[in-house]
Formats: sequence, structure tokens, C-alpha cells
Amino acid sequence: MDIRMAGVTKIFHPDIVALEDVYLNVKRGEFVYFVGHTGSGKTTLLRMLNRELSPSSGQIIVGKHNLRKMRLGQLPFYRRQVGVVFQDFKLLPHLNAAENVAFVLEAIGMPGRQVAERVKAILTKLDLWKRRFLYPEQMSGGEQQRLAIARAVVNMPSLLIADEPTGNLDMETAESIMDILFSINASGTTVLMATHNQYVVDAFRARVVRLSRGRIVSDEPRGEVELYGDL
Ligand code: ADP
Repeated sequence: MDIRMAGVTKIFHPDIVALEDVYLNVKRGEFVYFVGHTGSGKTTLLRMLNRELSPSSGQIIVGKHNLRKMRLGQLPFYRRQVGVVFQDFKLLPHLNAAENVAFVLEAIGMPGRQVAERVKAILTKLDLWKRRFLYPEQMSGGEQQRLAIARAVVNMPSLLIADEPTGNLDMETAESIMDILFSINASGTTVLMATHNQYVVDAFRARVVRLSRGRIVSDEPRGEVELYGDL
């Protein structure tokens, strides 16, 4: 889905300006990093694209959806097209790996046999099929993040939003997560990823949008950037 943000401002009560007059266009199938210091507005921007937050002013168009005008009834349909991955995984602790993924498909009423096929395919692709009966707490950080990605993409979203997905992972595990995100991107999914990880941005080149105090201050098409060069 193409994304267009125009003049987007987000003010948290009473007067915290988290984003200010943001203009951003992303084409379907792009991979975009969002970088910038803590508090610069990366998470706020991503959460607005998942329609978890609404802008205080401005327009956000994702595909054919105008997010500000979207009626509540359309939200589940929109969310089905968007996968979300967080640094802290947000897996359900009382479900095993396979159930964590199946849950997403069952929630939208997919028939059981189809659910089983989809779950097997995605867990196999992310090298988790043998670990399917384990509970999140029995899995390593890298496995949990792979599982969170499996859950986010099992419904084949057009847009994948990843907020610091390599945050707590060692370099080798972070690399394997990035390989997965780029392979999902190669299959046509737009990927938007907030990161603090200089190594990742150097090793896996993509467009880099930098935020500072709620504003976009640079936008490099194939970013060779120093994340904290402005310190
Ligand atoms: P980043 O992801 O770059 O660290 P955030 O988008 O989380 O930045 O935060 C941007 C600004 O908005 C910060 O000043 C933060 O404290 C503030 N903020 C974020 N979420 C909320 C909220 N729910 N209520 C009030 N302020 C918030």
C-alpha cells in the first residue's frame, strides 16, 4: 500500500508535540528505516499508521484508506492488512508457538484446516516448526522475535510495522531477523522499521528517514547515515 502523510501533527495532552508538520510518501514495496533519538517521534509515527493513534491535524492515507476519516467498523479490515512487530515481542504467554500464530487467523474466522496449513508454512519458513509446542518463555530472544514476526505476517499483510525489532538481540540474531524482514519485503510487503541500530542500517541498506523533535530532518534514499552523528 502506498502511504501519504501530509502536514501531520500529533500533540499529546496537554502540550507535548510528538510530531510536527510531517510530510512523508512511501511507495508500495519500499523498506524504510526511521531513526532519531529517543523521544523524536518514531513510535508515534508508526502507531499512527496502525491507526492506534489519530493525528491532531493533517492527513494520513494508506492505500485507499483515509485513516482520519476511517469509521470504527472499517478498522478490523484495515488492521488485517497491517502486521506489527515490537521490541518486546508481545507474545501471549499462555499459548504455545503454534497457537500464538493460529490465534491471529482464528480471530478473523479462518477455517481450521486452512489455519493449520498457514501456521505450518510460516513456522517452517521462519525455522520454528520444530519449536511449535514451546511456550514463549521456553524460547530464546531470537526465537521469540521470529515468532512475533511469524504472527505479524501470517495473514500476508501489505504493510509491516516494526518498532525496534532487533532491540534486545545480539548481532548475529539481529542479522537473521533482518534477513527475514528483507525477504518479506522482497515478496512485496512495505516495511517500516524504527531502529537505533547503526550496524543494521549499515549492513542492510534501505531508505533512512531521520526524525528530530517530531520533525523529519533528513530522508536518504539509500541511507549511508551516522545515526548519532548530530550528537
Ligand atoms: P521515539 O519512538 O522516537 O522514542 P515517541 O514517539 O515514543 O519517540 O515519543 C515522542 C514524544 O511523545 C516524546 O516526548 C514522548 O514522551 C511523547 N509521548 C509518546 N507517547 C505519549 C503518550 N501516550 N502520552 C504523552 N506523551 C507521549
